[in-house]
Amino acid sequence: MGHTDSIFALLKTGESNNPMIVTTKDLFQHAYGKYAVGAYNINNLEQTVGLFRGNLGKKGANEDPVDGKISAPFIIQISRGARAYSDKRMLEALIRSADQVFPEAVFAVHLDHGTEEACYDCIDSGFYSSVMIDASHHEFAENVATTKRVVDKAHAKGIVVEAELGQLGGVEEDVVGSVKLTDPAQAAEFIEKTGVDSLAVAIGTSHGAFKFSGKQGLHFDVLEKIQKAIPKNFPLVMHGSSSVPHEWVERINKAGGKLKDASGVDEKQYLPAAKLGVTKINIDTDGRLVWCAIHREHFRDKPEDFDLRPAGKTFMQAYAEYIIHKNEMLGSTGQLEGVRSALSGGKKSACGCCCGK
Ligand SMILES: [Zn+2]
Repeated sequence: MGHTDSIFALLKTGESNNPMIVTTKDLFQHAYGKYAVGAYNINNLEQTVGLFRGNLGKKGANEDPVDGKISAPFIIQISRGARAYSDKRMLEALIRSADQVFPEAVFAVHLDHGTEEACYDCIDSGFYSSVMIDASHHEFAENVATTKRVVDKAHAKGIVVEAELGQLGGVEEDVVGSVKLTDPAQAAEFIEKTGVDSLAVAIGTSHGAFKFSGKQGLHFDVLEKIQKAIPKNFPLVMHGSSSVPHEWVERINKAGGKLKDASGVDEKQYLPAAKLGVTKINIDTDGRLVWCAIHREHFRDKPEDFDLRPAGKTFMQAYAEYIIHKNEMLGSTGQLEGVRSALSGGKKSACGCCCGK
């Protein structure tokens, strides 16, 4: 552990005086075995605002008071697609601004599904506190070697790394052949050889909106075996964990959409997974459903409208409420203050004082 123990914020000097972009590792230490931290993908301004409001328990407006009973730590996930959507610098500026508008927030900034190249770009940016290297499609030995290279570069800068072992289901739910559940013994070997900080495991989830045809659930037996095989308190990650709520799909279709009904991960499975060492749960698709439903309904009900702000305003509120709901299911709700005091306590014991130097 040693060199990655430092709080990421200590690296951030100069232009940002934000003390609360932390590493995912900082968040995982507080969460382990108790709850999972929500990892939310964002792409634009409205999602960013809704995300920060929701995690601070602000249902209506930026100016609302922070609600300590429901405020939560969180992880902002940025995919390569999101970085390319407008410009990676635009997203970074959005998040830095949100951080000033919402100074109470405690969060990590994480690259989702990075290539080696994207990881190095984020490590060098001085902005990301965590990266995911996804070499899970390669053979074991190559996955190990690639991950190890990224870990070495990241750790040198106090940045933490998530890797993946096993194969999640793809967007095509019926292609069962491509699913490869994580092997517990291999997971232990992988962690030891790479020095990685957290591991995404394949235990029955899949990416995209069309996850399970029937009432398929998570393979808790596999998860339990993985937890037993790997070092104590080692954080696991669950990808593809949207629940694809039926009511959102229905709202979209009632407003002119043509989504096939599908089912995702039952939200009631988040907490049992957290108890077995899953500290980060990735949710992307559900947020897109919220966006789609709100905008379709708005323009269906107000066909004469062409202003983007009324719909955007409704969306920001709906997104905040959606985040509040998800955090409840993840168990992270109300954990913000606990994380904050654990982090400042950690700072004191690490350097002997609270000056951060
Ligand atoms: Zn993923």
